[in-house]
Amino acid sequence: MEQNTTLASAPGEGQLGFSQSLADGDRKISMALASAVIREHCADLVAVFYSALQKNEEAAAFLNQSIVQERLSQSLAGWLEDLAGIDPCGDLSEFEARQTLIGEVHARIKVPVHLVLEGASRLKREIHIRLAEKNGSTEAFSAIILIGELIDHAIGIMSKAYGKRTGERIRVDEAYRLYSLGQDVGVERESQKSMLMEWSQSVLFRLFGQQQQGQFDSISASPFGLWVRHRGAVMFEGSIMLRRIEAAMHEIDHHVIPKMRRQMDVQTQVQRLQVLIEEIKFLLNDLFESLTAAANARDPLTSALTRRFLPSILGREVQLANRQGTPLSLLMLDVDHFKQINDTWGHSGGDAVLRQIAEVIFEHIRPSDFLFRYGGEEFLLVLVEADRNHSYQVAENIRLAFEARQLNVAEGLQTRATVSVGIAIHDGHPDFQRLIDAADRAMYEAKALGRNRSVIA
Ligand code: GH3
Ligand code: MG
Ligand code: MG
Repeated sequence: MEQNTTLASAPGEGQLGFSQSLADGDRKISMALASAVIREHCADLVAVFYSALQKNEEAAAFLNQSIVQERLSQSLAGWLEDLAGIDPCGDLSEFEARQTLIGEVHARIKVPVHLVLEGASRLKREIHIRLAEKNGSTEAFSAIILIGELIDHAIGIMSKAYGKRTGERIRVDEAYRLYSLGQDVGVERESQKSMLMEWSQSVLFRLFGQQQQGQFDSISASPFGLWVRHRGAVMFEGSIMLRRIEAAMHEIDHHVIPKMRRQMDVQTQVQRLQVLIEEIKFLLNDLFESLTAAANARDPLTSALTRRFLPSILGREVQLANRQGTPLSLLMLDVDHFKQINDTWGHSGGDAVLRQIAEVIFEHIRPSDFLFRYGGEEFLLVLVEADRNHSYQVAENIRLAFEARQLNVAEGLQTRATVSVGIAIHDGHPDFQRLIDAADRAMYEAKALGRNRSVIA
């Protein structure tokens, strides 16, 4: 703990404001009242808490009945006892450390934060009702507020720990995905395809061969299924194609295979199986293709970074700039009258111009800067540790070099084009989207002022 918090001192999280207005003696009386009620009704509170949660579909998934009985109920009872045992004039740091541990457990088992909040508010209400029933004195009223503050304080610490752990996990997951991208994707794709084929052949073999009638392994238990459910799940997390593969596997295991086992309509099932296997093969190809495209994270036409990594890169740079106090600038570049270029030289001529504007930009930036293809003919340039003067200079250098360049648009044919640039200087605001919006607005201003110019937001 950075700092010991007591109910009487100004707490780090600043949530125990009310109790500071109580004298030590009053606080002790209120707390004693609250503790007595919590201890008296502990089993009852635990039961109400879980029966409410179990009605919630999302929560029910976490609360397998036998586990609830054995472990979670005990944990909640322990937590209530911990709460009841607080010395309202003493040091809270050990209690707080335990809340941090609980938040970390929640993060590991992925309990959604809103469920914890709902549970806490339910508990507060139940304790309040019981306190009010016990007696209607001023002390009971103070006890209600005091215990409410304590529960909020505990949940606040849990949520902080939860957020920290979850954030760390996301970074690690991302690192793993990037690592997997570095692996030989082609080899992995081929080996998974052959695993899939091996499984489907073994099913047909068992079906039509004489031995072991009815002995089919499920596809999810096969080496291919294992790969999908574990490695694939990490490599392609959130992918629609992966979900469709899982749906096809589900149909195989829950409809096709059971019918085959019972020798029902075998011909139709075999056909359906083949359709599903083909579909999985097709999806698998798409899945790996999306990975190859993301592997270098670069747009194949211009070699600029794709937008996919913009949030993580720009988010990180903004944080870094704020932490180190270094400047940061963003340039939004948009080719002028690009539609005309397309109309005159065709789409391939337009593409050639895009390749060349990217070349010009790359010639004028440092290896530490980031160039993104932001839209069709829009580029976003992140200039790290670049102040107003530096970024204006870079913008003008790019603009003038592009204007002067003979652009190859077809065999032996050349043209000229210009670019408008909007510049935004980071002002310390942590939301990088504001910086992008500012650069965008400045770029439109450059257009409005007659194009082929750089404008600082
Ligand atoms: P302005 O000076 O106002 O920017 O005029 P503009 O003609 O450039 O207008 P706008 O930015 O709206 O035009 C973008 C055009 O770029 C429209 C779209 O057909 C074309 N485009 C988008 N992506 C590509 C691409 O990858 N290749 C080619 N050749 N054209 C593209
Ligand atoms: Mg545009
Ligand atoms: Mg344009």
